[in-house]
Amino acid sequence: DTAASLAELDASLLETTLTTTPRQVPAIGSPEMASQKVCTDHMIQAKWTVESGWHAPSLQPFGPLSLSPTASCLHYATECFEGMKLYRGFDGKLRLFRPQLNCNRMLMSTNRIALPAFAPEELLKLVVKLCATDGAKWLPKDRPGHFLYIRPTMIATDAALGVERPKEALLFILLTCFAPMGNMSGGIKLLASQDDMCRAWPGGFGYAKVGANYGPSLVAQGEARAMGYHQILWLFGEDCIVTEAGASNFFLVWKTPEGKLQLITADLNERIVLDGVTRRSVLELARSRLAPGHEDLEPIEIVERKFSMFEVEKAAQEGRIVEAFASGTAWFIAPIGQIHFRGKDFTIPQEAGESGKYTKAIKSFLKGIMWGEDGLEQHEWGYVV
Ligand code: PMP
Repeated sequence: DTAASLAELDASLLETTLTTTPRQVPAIGSPEMASQKVCTDHMIQAKWTVESGWHAPSLQPFGPLSLSPTASCLHYATECFEGMKLYRGFDGKLRLFRPQLNCNRMLMSTNRIALPAFAPEELLKLVVKLCATDGAKWLPKDRPGHFLYIRPTMIATDAALGVERPKEALLFILLTCFAPMGNMSGGIKLLASQDDMCRAWPGGFGYAKVGANYGPSLVAQGEARAMGYHQILWLFGEDCIVTEAGASNFFLVWKTPEGKLQLITADLNERIVLDGVTRRSVLELARSRLAPGHEDLEPIEIVERKFSMFEVEKAAQEGRIVEAFASGTAWFIAPIGQIHFRGKDFTIPQEAGESGKYTKAIKSFLKGIMWGEDGLEQHEWGYVV
């Protein structure tokens, strides 16, 4: 039968063409480094067609794509992507952080928009291959603590303008240079979304990393920036359910009205929140490490549930908010200093311009794994390239 004869994505078939015009790695602190536009020398591409399945992937010089102006992705948002980082460790090694989770999530996203399936392990092998090819040059050993951003992407390339399930697709993977993150003094400032702007809704696609979730969020983001805030705190519905902060998950450390200390974040039940790799790691870490018995830190209860901005407002008014942070690949663990909701600003306590102690403990543990520090060089969440 035809389905059985379709080729699977197979990283072992990779065809390699190395660049003959290698480019310069931007200097630390240069405008090119900050531009987020400089990609490394190579990229990976793999074509898919409905007739034959996946073609042999290729590692080739980085360069523009050639697409028909009628290509499906340009009109119908038949696109999804992933975001992860390649870290140059303080022990000299190159590492990914739990990359299997990103590859699994990419498959879940492709399913949501009718792009072709693939074995996530094959995507991981391709990511690793690209990182191994360009990592040594673009993240030199004298730049420990630096990283490259990895962007696996899939687009439907069908040239037929009819609104239809894709019959042709392209998977590509690229690496871009990023300047290391600076600490935002006073923490991130969030503007809670208004009733007329909603990021995701039950039955929608907020749980998937599809481009269609991001473009429409930029009007609100632009308004936030114009008002002096960094990002939107996305609320949902009349009850003002707290979901995410920008393209990051949102965490609070607070005391319940009964005085119990909790780490709380939105649950994933209604599929309006992205299952962040960092979010998941924070929760797993907190459950195993911040549970009763951890030195210096008061035991804390870990809670995933639906909670509203009204609860947050009340907690702030009653002085029960202890810490708040956003979690994600881009901003990592970023302390939140202020939230604006319906005309009022709440300030979140900051310890001398730094994050609070729970945020700090979580951050230093994850950093240790990503950068190979603090005896965490061998941790199973770190994937050495
Ligand atoms: N929420 C959204 C909407 C995102 O785009 C991201 C970034 N992928 C996150 C949360 C954080 O996810 P992760 O920790 O996997 O980067």
